Amino acid sequence: MATYDVIVVGGGVGGCIAAALLSKLGRRVILLEKYPQLGGRVHPVDYQGYTLDLGAHLIEDTGSGICRIYEFLGKKIEVGAVSDALPVFADGKWKHIGEVFRGNKSTFKSVIKELVSSDYSEFDGYDHLPLRAWLLERNADQGTIDFFEFLAALEQITDQWFDHSASENLYVRKMHYEEKGMAGYSFWPKGGYENLFNQLKEAIEENSGEVRTETEVSQVLVEDGKVLGVVARPAKRDVVNEYSYGEVLEASVVISNLPVWSVLNIIPQGALPSWYVDIIRSVASEKNKACWIGIYAGSEEPIIAKSEKELCAWIETPRTGLPGFSFTVSNYDDSVAPDGKHLFVCGFSCKAEEIRDKAWLRNMFHNIEADLEDMFPSFKRTLWRKKHTVLEPAFGLQGKPGVVGRFRPDFVAPNVDGLYFVSDTFRGRGIGIDKVSRTALSCVERIQGEKIPFFDKTWRY
Ligand SMILES: Cc1cc2nc3c(=O)[nH]c(=O)nc-3n(C[C@H](O)[C@H](O)[C@H](O)COP(=O)(O)OP(=O)(O)OC[C@H]3O[C@@H](n4cnc5c(N)ncnc54)[C@H](O)[C@@H]3O)c2cc1C
Repeated sequence: MATYDVIVVGGGVGGCIAAALLSKLGRRVILLEKYPQLGGRVHPVDYQGYTLDLGAHLIEDTGSGICRIYEFLGKKIEVGAVSDALPVFADGKWKHIGEVFRGNKSTFKSVIKELVSSDYSEFDGYDHLPLRAWLLERNADQGTIDFFEFLAALEQITDQWFDHSASENLYVRKMHYEEKGMAGYSFWPKGGYENLFNQLKEAIEENSGEVRTETEVSQVLVEDGKVLGVVARPAKRDVVNEYSYGEVLEASVVISNLPVWSVLNIIPQGALPSWYVDIIRSVASEKNKACWIGIYAGSEEPIIAKSEKELCAWIETPRTGLPGFSFTVSNYDDSVAPDGKHLFVCGFSCKAEEIRDKAWLRNMFHNIEADLEDMFPSFKRTLWRKKHTVLEPAFGLQGKPGVVGRFRPDFVAPNVDGLYFVSDTFRGRGIGIDKVSRTALSCVERIQGEKIPFFDKTWRY
């Protein structure tokens, strides 16, 4: 029976980072991933010479998160193109963000000053609170409120003001203002996303760790409140109804990278306390999923509003009434499209139940295409269009009060020694890729029993 110090189940961002950090720290690690490639929701797909990515678009790390973790591993995320403008479609035309949200300058400055000077730990106290409540307590004017809420709708994939959590939004704004001096910062990693996962695999293997793809974990083994290991089997079956118990791999520490929607499938019933299972089930409710519907398109000319490296946004478009974003990916990285061609992507936030309504979906895609043609004249001349829904998998969880931060299931399993959960749907802060990277770091430090001094300036739990 093979024995390891740590078994990591799942090779998404969180699983790979946890495995790479623990290997670097001298633990004997094996990472098990059911698909042939690492990456999870970050998954580049070739289509007619273009590279579409299932999940990842831009990384929102100002330097202290995932980028710093790569440095510790002796690897590098090279910041490629950075978004340099946020044009907003409002009243039938594209406007500079400052034209749309005109807050009182001194109020705005005092809110930012308070934000930057506050400690990240204070935000834990606002996990239950809507962002608007926090801003009103500071006497913020309507323009300032509208600006903060606009960014909240974009980043947390929530469009109702009462669904914008104060803690998540304040955390991201503080990080962006403090580390980069701007409201929003996002970049494309040079060399694309495949390069990021190749580097993590290298980091694991250089430090005597093992990566096994096409291997599915069917069960985490727990006995007398202690983790014993996992049962793993080949993900591919020769016959669809084939039965294979699989192989037992032993370890006293198991980290699950599975999201709340599927994690309970691999944990034996009764191993976790019922209150903790209830938190997982409640957070996993479909009404908390961050969803959108969108279109990838190939074109001869970039589909932009004002400038190449912009990230376009809208509070609602005339026919859909939905908020959303778009950008020309090939302006950030020309290798994602054939020479002389462009790749465009956009997303319109909506509810999971709307995506499940076939009539709504058909009608909405019709409206989206008509709106995009009005908003971007070059959209009329696309070479191809690919519609997609972001539901299974979803982007993640919405950043709603009561569904963020300390309301999420902790990454340390209660009542089971050696069991940990690293996923963007468990405890963490921030956005997508960067959020789960920081959760992985927090979890690794908890396993090690100490903070790693290299990350002194990195916020994490
Ligand atoms: C359309 C879309 C756009 C996005 N855009 C952005 C963006 O621009 N910026 C950003 O920061 N984030 C973005 N995200 C979010 C980001 O992709 C996720 O936050 C991040 O990838 C989550 O990583 P994770 O490690 O938590 O989980 P996952 O990526 O879900 O990884 C879980 C892994 O576990 C594996 N697994 C599951 N079950 C088993 C099993 N039984 N045995 C073995 N392996 C198993 C899965 O195959 C998977 O590899 C986007 C997501 C989507 C869907």
